Amino acid sequence: MSVSHPLPASEDRFRALVEQCLVGIYVIQDDRVVYANPRFCQIFGYTQEELAREAVPVERLTCEPDWPLVRENIRRRIAGEIQSLHYTFRGRRKDGSTIELEVHGARTELRGKPAIIGTLLDLTDRKLAEEKLLHDALHDALTGLPNRSLFMDRLGQAMARRERRADYRFAVLFLDVDRFKTINESLGHALGDRLLMLIAQRLLRCVRPGDTVARLGGDEFAILLEDYGDAEEPARCADRIREELRAAHDLAGTEVFATVSVGIAVGERSSARPDDLLRDADTAMYRAKELGRARHAVFHPSMHAHARAQLQLETDLRRALERSELRVAFQPIVSLRTGLVSGCEALVEWQHPQRGRIPPDDFIPAAEETGLILPIGAWVLREACREARAFVSHLPRSAPVAVSVNLSGRQLLQAELLEQVRAALRESGLLAHRLRLEVTESVIMEHAGPASLLLAQLKSLGVHLLLDDFGTGYSSLSYLHNFRFDTLKLDRTFVARIDTSAKNAEIVRTIVSLARALGMDVVAEGVETPAQLAQLQALHCDYAQGYYFARPMDAARFVELLDARKTWPLSPAAQALSHRR
Ligand code: C2E
Ligand code: CA
Ligand code: CA
Repeated sequence: MSVSHPLPASEDRFRALVEQCLVGIYVIQDDRVVYANPRFCQIFGYTQEELAREAVPVERLTCEPDWPLVRENIRRRIAGEIQSLHYTFRGRRKDGSTIELEVHGARTELRGKPAIIGTLLDLTDRKLAEEKLLHDALHDALTGLPNRSLFMDRLGQAMARRERRADYRFAVLFLDVDRFKTINESLGHALGDRLLMLIAQRLLRCVRPGDTVARLGGDEFAILLEDYGDAEEPARCADRIREELRAAHDLAGTEVFATVSVGIAVGERSSARPDDLLRDADTAMYRAKELGRARHAVFHPSMHAHARAQLQLETDLRRALERSELRVAFQPIVSLRTGLVSGCEALVEWQHPQRGRIPPDDFIPAAEETGLILPIGAWVLREACREARAFVSHLPRSAPVAVSVNLSGRQLLQAELLEQVRAALRESGLLAHRLRLEVTESVIMEHAGPASLLLAQLKSLGVHLLLDDFGTGYSSLSYLHNFRFDTLKLDRTFVARIDTSAKNAEIVRTIVSLARALGMDVVAEGVETPAQLAQLQALHCDYAQGYYFARPMDAARFVELLDARKTWPLSPAAQALSHRR
């Protein structure tokens, strides 16, 4: 190839190509730059006029220690000892800074004299570009954390290391943000993304420098813990994460609480492939969700069978509604003043054609996860009101008998609930004050904001609100009072412990008197023994429910109980206990 200088105007297209080239192009003669394209000038920090006008000596563009090398390379080509050469050297920019350069130059003739034409690449640029490409391919754009492929790669390395070193331990934690979909839908996607970034930052605080925190996609994260000493470390890491996420996130002025469910799979020598271990951790994470979220579960092979059964359950549950396999059972609630039945709690159960009776705890969580709780909840509401209307026809008008229906968190996020309650009352003819809606403390803690309007509207229908499972969350009673609950249901774990120590009885006494001060009645649930009953009476609890009185029963039997005006004998021991205090 031969070139003349300056490039002939007639070769317009060729000229444009050279001028626009993203690689530096130059011609040197007599150790001076006699032509440089715009990119070449940019690399060295000169304007094109400066370089062309002055025919800048190559020495000025070279870092001093490298000049002998560059000079010798030019000399050999000009002398014709070699035709072309490819090498790297350090250049000097106009501002004095140093750059790594890669140069490719060949001997040519220009106006009858030897010259060199060549190309020049700024390696600093290329290194950065390569690094960025590599980084982007292996990292998540939103959080900057390693992505799934980098995570799998590191997991593969950890497995290989485990083969060589018997004392090397590693574990995979699979994390899923609880109810992220709801958060994302109610806050909008931009804030949802922001929340994921904040969670990522907190996760990084829970691991050691050598560990990997990755985002697998969506609201799923994974952590690879490596080379830890104590076998308890993965569980402790999960505890640290729960602690770290306890504080609210500030999202544009809105306080948001986010918890994660964590599945742990510990690396064993026999662990087959990285994919298998990640899947095991994922399975354990699902178990943690089923156990109530915001917790961790360690993988055990039996979980696979469980996961399959769970999937089957969901399919069956869809059909159960259509085939009317659900039933409502009623458990009496007894007044501790009169010993008479003062109402009942409606509890759904499933009459499965093959498996027989399935209790709600075995299918309500799955129904909540899949959204099936919405049609199920609506059905229970209608059914309970219809049956309750039938009970009360057996009673004097003034008898204060009411039916309690459980509401799930999903139902409370639905504005239609108000209309469903209205319709259930209208269709059954049940008076509003005979319906009580039970909402658990944890649901209130979680959805306090969105649910508060709906709760107020329900209350204005004349329906009573009952705070279920009280004592299992972290709320204070006075905070909950703002939602104007009429009745508080003491969780059965308190009742179970009430007669084991004076301290436990004291806790219950405090709750009862606080509820009283805030104008709420108290129902104790899970009463199983006469001793528990006696304690509750002594503590002036208003109502009680539990196997001691009766198990949940069908509507016909409950009506018999009402008809018989069944009165439970209240414990005389209560009198003695209350005097002792
Ligand atoms: P819950 O609201 O706390 O209901 C009370 C549970 O305690 C019932 O369990 C009841 O059978 C049980 N129980 C009653 N007395 C005793 C006792 O003396 N000892 C013990 N150990 N347990 C007693 P069940 O029927 O298995 O219901 C479990 C949970 O399922 C309920 O807890 C409630 O959270 C949920 N659930 C039941 N029906 C519905 C429904 O229609 N909708 C919704 N969303 N959840 C429901
Ligand atoms: Ca309940
Ligand atoms: Ca309860």
